[in-house]
Amino acid sequence: MKRSTVNILASYIDALHPIIYINHFDFKVIDDAIKNVGSNAKIVEYNNALGLVDFYNKSPMQECDLEQFLKLTMDDGFEMETYIVLKDVHNEMSNPKIISLLKRIAENNVYRDEYSTTVFILSEITVIPKELENYITVFDIPLPTTPEILSIINEFIRDLDIKVEQEVIDDIALSFKGLNEFQIKQILNLAYQDGGCIDKDDKLLILKEKEQFIKKSGMLEIVSYSETVEDIGGLENLKEWLERKAKIFSNLDKAIKFGVDVPKGIMIIGMPGCGKSLTAKATASLFQIPLVRLDVGRLLGKYVGESEENMRKALKLSEAISPCVLWIDEIEKAFAGVGGDGGGSDVTTRLFGQFLTWMQEKENTVFIVATANDISRMPPEFLRKGRFDELFFVDLPNGEERRKIIEIHLKKRNKWSRNIDSIALIKETDGFNGADLEAVVKDTIELAFIEGRSAITTDDLIKTVKDTKSISSTLKEKIKEIKATIEKIDIKPASKEDQKS
Ligand code: ATP
Repeated sequence: MKRSTVNILASYIDALHPIIYINHFDFKVIDDAIKNVGSNAKIVEYNNALGLVDFYNKSPMQECDLEQFLKLTMDDGFEMETYIVLKDVHNEMSNPKIISLLKRIAENNVYRDEYSTTVFILSEITVIPKELENYITVFDIPLPTTPEILSIINEFIRDLDIKVEQEVIDDIALSFKGLNEFQIKQILNLAYQDGGCIDKDDKLLILKEKEQFIKKSGMLEIVSYSETVEDIGGLENLKEWLERKAKIFSNLDKAIKFGVDVPKGIMIIGMPGCGKSLTAKATASLFQIPLVRLDVGRLLGKYVGESEENMRKALKLSEAISPCVLWIDEIEKAFAGVGGDGGGSDVTTRLFGQFLTWMQEKENTVFIVATANDISRMPPEFLRKGRFDELFFVDLPNGEERRKIIEIHLKKRNKWSRNIDSIALIKETDGFNGADLEAVVKDTIELAFIEGRSAITTDDLIKTVKDTKSISSTLKEKIKEIKATIEKIDIKPASKEDQKS
């Protein structure tokens, strides 16, 4: 157990934090820390399945429920310093009798000099009853820092008596960021068993395993992608802006030392199917950092306070794996109607506030890409300058952009030819979005294949265009609404003005 964890725990106890909630999966690690801090204390343990348990050898001593257990042990603190360790009792946190008993212990601890009992609640699920909010302190076991990761790796190498080059150690240490000590050791074991040594190739294994752990946490999703800026037709202003920021991200260490502010992120608002998601992926590829998606809906929990706790964990996790792009897709849906009468619940309002504060104060290398269609119901404070570095509006592609998008998708499928008349296509595709144009290319190629033709002509494409209902005809009203909202805010166009149309 790291010294720092023990020290923080001890300082909480000294400062009379009566109930310490520890959210962790590895109870052995926490038991060791508690043992370390409480060498002079009487330690009693309650296990949700077994009742009273001997804290030191873990043997069951007496079957009882939590209420009986607390009644049995709550006065021990008058005789000597006592630690009450409760494991997996999150389900009991809505039981009024349990809440009252815990409150009594907490109040005694704070107000009566002759009483000293600290309660530790250990669970993977954090549930904090409103009535106990002022008495409970949530304790986070900090994730290992880079020097700590290095010492875990070095210890592992020493124990096995194997030789690993320093360069490899430094390299894999960075890949371990965001994982806890237990997970790091598990992966090191796996890598060693795989090839009998630790080398550069293990980085891939580490990344894969890390992805698994992050996936299992259910908070964030690592998105794999192959798209680059080359795949985006148009949006030149946005691409130029991102290319400038990429120079900072690819030299992060130097840039920070030079005094450059780390970019916070962008908000991309606009028409459906015009390349917003594509840009999120291209940003990660340009910056050469992982892309992680935050799905706010997935954070919502059924217990009081659980959603906020999940949000906190997700943001912490993103910091731990940083530098990374944190992508929040359809952010307007996640925080719809917050603070207004649009149906946003109390929980989403709180989550929103939490997210705003984090964004405002953030000094990390998590780059946010938030994408949205309709921002009419977004709280205005979200769009205020200072939160994001820039807001971009993605409009329906102009003529030149449509030409480029068609070219990109034809080239992707090896069907591009100089004979294709771009001007004619531009004229025919007014009001089409990127997704429409991609569909036109796909359908034309499919038809040519079915009909046994080897090349694609302008006429083939125009024929498909005529059979395609563009977004402007299917979502007329929605597009009008989006435009009307955009006019009211200070936002940059993602595209350069069309010289040709
Ligand atoms: P939504 O708001 O519906 O999520 P979006 O703006 O995120 O839409 P994307 O998912 O990026 O749209 O685009 C859908 C598809 O359309 C992409 O897979 C891409 O192939 C194509 N596309 C859209 N815009 C462009 C573009 N500017 N350049 C090239 N392809 C594009």
